[in-house]
Amino acid sequence: MTTIAFIGLGNMGGPMAANLVKAGHAVQGFDLVPALRDEAAKAGISVAAAAGDAVAGADVIVTMLPAGKHVIAVWSEILPKAKKGALIIDSSTIDVDSARSAHAMAAKAGLLSVDAPVSGGTGGAKGATLTFMCGGADAAFAAAKPILEQMGKKIVHCGGAGAGQAAKICNNMILGATMIVTAEAFVLGEKLGLTHQALFDVASTSSGQSWSMTTYCPVPGPVPTSPANNDYKPGFAAALMLKDLKLAQEAASSAGATTPLGAAAAQLYSLFNADGHAGEDFSGIVNFLRGQAKP
Ligand code: NAD
Repeated sequence: MTTIAFIGLGNMGGPMAANLVKAGHAVQGFDLVPALRDEAAKAGISVAAAAGDAVAGADVIVTMLPAGKHVIAVWSEILPKAKKGALIIDSSTIDVDSARSAHAMAAKAGLLSVDAPVSGGTGGAKGATLTFMCGGADAAFAAAKPILEQMGKKIVHCGGAGAGQAAKICNNMILGATMIVTAEAFVLGEKLGLTHQALFDVASTSSGQSWSMTTYCPVPGPVPTSPANNDYKPGFAAALMLKDLKLAQEAASSAGATTPLGAAAAQLYSLFNADGHAGEDFSGIVNFLRGQAKP
């Protein structure tokens, strides 16, 4: 049994912390929202009065927060109170520069650190089937792996500080751009008199194949489990896709990389979100491209 502090008990953090309790760990949790603290207590988490109190005596600390500024603020508050030699893991999706600053703060405070953003959504958080993309030193990754295995099923060491965040935003930039072009192809096919099934049958087994086509097809019918068959309920909300595409653009600009399709994808998802579809699955962009977006 390990004593684990868990800060940020929202849609993802709540069920992830609950899985650590189920795995037999003593979990000390904190969130700013009182209702989430109550829910966490019901799941067997020992709720602290402040983030700084939650880390007292913890061997491992996990943060699952909205953005880089929250991670830097929370780490600034908790690192001085954390055990020397403890391990700190941030699983939030944040910008690469903040992730690297957070690693430097942890090293200064004498802690091992890992950036470990996830894919798999709230279903993966509940079912402990998340994929963790990790950045950090070998020793920190080795210490984090057995803990992450209790919340996920695939744990990948991507490289040094910030490499987990880098892998996450590069992957999601591919996802955003392929979803848009897949949706564009279905809309063009419609204009050309092609059925959705015919295009799917060809493209899902040809060079147009991608996850956006074969697993998450943006039109109803060909892939019965895709959100298109469930009124575009997320799934992966368009707001989160936009967040990741913006992070990719920030990283591209800070690193000096040329990503014109990533930039176009960010722009299209900005329009889609601004048009009132932030809470819809990101594959709903097909309706927006067709000009029939629901109000
Ligand atoms: P969420 O908003 O439900 O949870 C974040 C929690 O952090 C909130 O409950 C908030 O009260 C808490 N918080 C903020 N500041 C705090 C502070 N100073 N101290 C303590 N708690 C604080 O968000 P989520 O959906 O759980 O996502 C968390 C992270 O995971 C985000 O970075 C998101 O991009 C990423 N992510 C989410 C999904 C998803 O499907 N929801 C998928 C992959 C990655």
